[in-house]
Amino acid sequence: MSRFWSPFVKGLVPYVPGEQPKLDNLVKLNTNENPYGPSPKVIEAVRAQLDDSLRLYPAPNADDLKQAIADYHGVASSQVFVGNGSDEVLAHLFNGLFQHGKPVLMPDISYSFYPVYCNLYGIEARALPLDENFRIRVEDYQGENGGIIFPNPNAPTGILLPLDGIEQILKANPDSVVVVDEAYVDFGGESAIALVDSYPNLLVTQTLSKSRSLAGLRVGFAVGHADLIEGLERIKNSFNSYPLDRLAIAGAVAAFEDQAWFEKCCNAVIDSREQLSAALAERGFEVLPSAANFVLARHPERDAGELAASLRERRVIVRHFRQPRIEQHLRITVGTPQQNQALLDALDALLQG
Ligand code: PMP
Repeated sequence: MSRFWSPFVKGLVPYVPGEQPKLDNLVKLNTNENPYGPSPKVIEAVRAQLDDSLRLYPAPNADDLKQAIADYHGVASSQVFVGNGSDEVLAHLFNGLFQHGKPVLMPDISYSFYPVYCNLYGIEARALPLDENFRIRVEDYQGENGGIIFPNPNAPTGILLPLDGIEQILKANPDSVVVVDEAYVDFGGESAIALVDSYPNLLVTQTLSKSRSLAGLRVGFAVGHADLIEGLERIKNSFNSYPLDRLAIAGAVAAFEDQAWFEKCCNAVIDSREQLSAALAERGFEVLPSAANFVLARHPERDAGELAASLRERRVIVRHFRQPRIEQHLRITVGTPQQNQALLDALDALLQG
């Protein structure tokens, strides 16, 4: 704390992401990165940017990337907004599309960045409890609110809300922006982008960090009605007219061009998730049904915090949340079959001990 900090800065409670240790030989299953590398075509496209042109500013509107996303999802490029990771897209939409002064509705177990943005912009975050099976209770999302946001599949539960549930929420809230955060949708979900032309209050966010193996490039986007997108553009341009650098734009465009690589990696992760879920269940874990690239699992007889710490000593890192209802769960990112086996071997040693 410095005496030069404003009261505003003193009041901020920043988000703490999962650790990114600089250690080698770790089985890193804690931050939902893709265990497979990006498409070789992405690497080639990024390399091709490494020349004298770096002295020039990037395209302010990232038009090529917007077009690539629009083509991929069958919308107009005026319906696409891009940002420095979906975290930045979220920051702008909390600021500009949610009505401050009214509570923003979200599930009580969801992405822990949402309350951080509410705190940043002075918005009340109203967390609505999940049901006994950790599912979103669609009927609770109504009444006066300044906006609604939830991940789908939810994080860190991994549980998917089918599109008819999303439509129910959209219909019950025609005067609020409803944001569906699809960071993990490519691992088995059905995208609500199919609904954007029917609901002017729907905004869908996605990221290239997970299914396209590009967490390091920081590219996320939103798709919705062109009016919502224009609002986001106004805000972005008031902070930084160049949200994405030349490397990120080129790499992201190339990622959308290599559909075969994308499908291969997603299918491998989905297969591994099913195998991992079954293997954890065999070892006594209760595993929530996941449509994401991670599983949330609880061992009825073992303390989750101690398990996470013991796994770490064996160089396997998973995520443990000290949060009501899930403090006895571990969130485990799906790795390669070898990484998952290393986790299971470490668990076997611990559970026998
Ligand atoms: N939404 C959810 C639900 C997430 O888990 C994450 C990743 N932690 C993000 C958004 C942000 O992803 P990124 O900024 O890497 O696009």
